[in-house]
Amino acid sequence: MLLLYAEKAELNIIIYEQFLIFDSSPKISNNQKFKLSYKEVKLLMEVQISSVQTDFIRQIIADDLSNNKNDGRVVTRFPPEPNGYLHIGHAKSLCLNFGVAAENNGGKCYLRFDDSNPTKEDIEYVDSIKADVRWLGYQWADLKHASDYFDQLYEYAIALIKMNKAYVCSLNSEEIKAYRGTLREPGKNSPYRLRSVEENLDLFARMKAGEFADGTQVLRAKIAMDSPNINMRDPIIYRVKKATHHNTGDKWCIYPMYDFCHCLSDAIEGITHSLCTLEFEDHRPLYDWILDTLGTPCHPQQIEFARLSLKYMVLSKRKLHELVNNKHVSGWDDPRMPTLTGMRRRGYTPEAIRDFCNRIGITKNDTQIEMGVLENCIRTDLDPKTARVMGVLKPLRVVIENYPEDQIEQLEGPYHPNDESMGSRKIPFSRVIYIEQDDFREVAPRKFFRLAPGREVRLRYAYYITCQSMIKDDKGNIIELRCTYDPETRGGSSPDGRKVKGTLHWVSEADAITAEVRLYDRLFKEANPGASGTDLEAALNPDSMEILTNCKVEASLANAQAGERYQFERQGYFCVDSVDSSEDKLVFNRIITLRDSWAKIEKAAR
Ligand code: ATP
Ligand code: MG
Repeated sequence: MLLLYAEKAELNIIIYEQFLIFDSSPKISNNQKFKLSYKEVKLLMEVQISSVQTDFIRQIIADDLSNNKNDGRVVTRFPPEPNGYLHIGHAKSLCLNFGVAAENNGGKCYLRFDDSNPTKEDIEYVDSIKADVRWLGYQWADLKHASDYFDQLYEYAIALIKMNKAYVCSLNSEEIKAYRGTLREPGKNSPYRLRSVEENLDLFARMKAGEFADGTQVLRAKIAMDSPNINMRDPIIYRVKKATHHNTGDKWCIYPMYDFCHCLSDAIEGITHSLCTLEFEDHRPLYDWILDTLGTPCHPQQIEFARLSLKYMVLSKRKLHELVNNKHVSGWDDPRMPTLTGMRRRGYTPEAIRDFCNRIGITKNDTQIEMGVLENCIRTDLDPKTARVMGVLKPLRVVIENYPEDQIEQLEGPYHPNDESMGSRKIPFSRVIYIEQDDFREVAPRKFFRLAPGREVRLRYAYYITCQSMIKDDKGNIIELRCTYDPETRGGSSPDGRKVKGTLHWVSEADAITAEVRLYDRLFKEANPGASGTDLEAALNPDSMEILTNCKVEASLANAQAGERYQFERQGYFCVDSVDSSEDKLVFNRIITLRDSWAKIEKAAR
């Protein structure tokens, strides 16, 4: 184990709340030191070192600016296909595209829907994407749709035909595939490749006019069937698809393919740096070929970076659709989903997600990031700004026998231990309270400092109590404790200075509010779910959600509103569910646990 307080390290690394911070003057106190294993430190170092606030893309942009390339402009875009909800991987791309625009004076970033595939797209996704981008804290300079350019794209296609650089091909999709060749074998020319310009213009116009059925005719760029890059083997650039489009309605029955639509949309918008993920690297020659051949006035520079992938999670839209469609989750906003809507519902903050994206940095190496990195970002963000309250998740009734029957005391509890400005609330205390079942053991193991027969513990903000006896049901389960309290210990210390090691949270029975609490764990039990075609369903963690319906939370939460976040002392951070919580029934989602040293000890012992 390393003791983490690395102020002396060369890089001025401070390890704070398990994070490495490149800073020389953090406020850090002794009790904020943590112990991590060497492996954990190494991992955090790797992650953090890549995230010093510059990266190869920012470097390219800085160089372009210093050379006055693009007349000193920086214009980027975030280009989702509206065929699913945004996820944490998209957040990485959002932070990059909006980030570099904001960092450069006068820089602009557009939100553009790459909506050229009407059968997979839906207005539901368009709306959710806009809401998610705003929630993450970004405002687009302009909202764009590739479908707004369909007229221009059609004209560009005609221009290619006229240059004899595109032809209508009447092979069906299987034949096209067979002619395409493989990675080792060159492709073969289509028999339609030699059609005259006139014939192609005529056929393309008839495609547009709706004379051909889906899949019977396509427009292909005429590049090279023997190119080592399969994307360059006469790629399809337009196809017939008799489908209503969510933006253009029934105006079109031919639609441009993604590769044709994307680069030209970038060029039309005057994008300077077209940032995309690594899988587009092999498409870059086509991107450049289309723009060079057409001689567009603007030729954006495409730069690729690594996608985010998270251990124990999937970020492919296809897999996320599968989870939703097969009802493995309650929907796109299920709090276990990596979607922004799911994370928002769970209680994640936009600040934490942006911080995460900054920390992981931008590189060209595909690596899997530990969920722990994301989880620590949310803890770090919530800690200073979240009110502390008490909630008992698995209640055990405690009767304090020497406490007056009808008395209720109003104790004072600050909302935050280090921030007085957050104020305090009254906490009612009475003869019957609930504590956590886990905070009692009939036979206390070594190092168990909580309640046990004959043991004395402190009740947070209240008194010391001592366990005198237990009541069990016929099956031997402990259903109630009988305790006594020491009236001299109000506020949590004794005049005689005797020490108690454990401090428990509790809730007074008379004023308790019954709430439902949903505890979440990782959605998958495998680090790389569904990798190389393995069964996604088999990789699911059967214990990813535990619903507790009889939790007792303190009276101050009576008016807790949807979306509000609280730290339940010793339990973690929780958020009032925005879908299922109501005035009659409070429902909390656990955002994230605090660290529980006892669980670690128990686990190690096992
Ligand atoms: P998928 O491959 O899961 O279907 P996608 O790439 O098709 O996702 P888009 O809607 O096209 O999803 O994505 C919009 C932008 O977000 C693209 O520029 C894409 O490169 C980027 N993006 C998507 N997933 C990730 C990820 N995991 N990490 C970083 N950027 C991503
Ligand atoms: Mg895509």
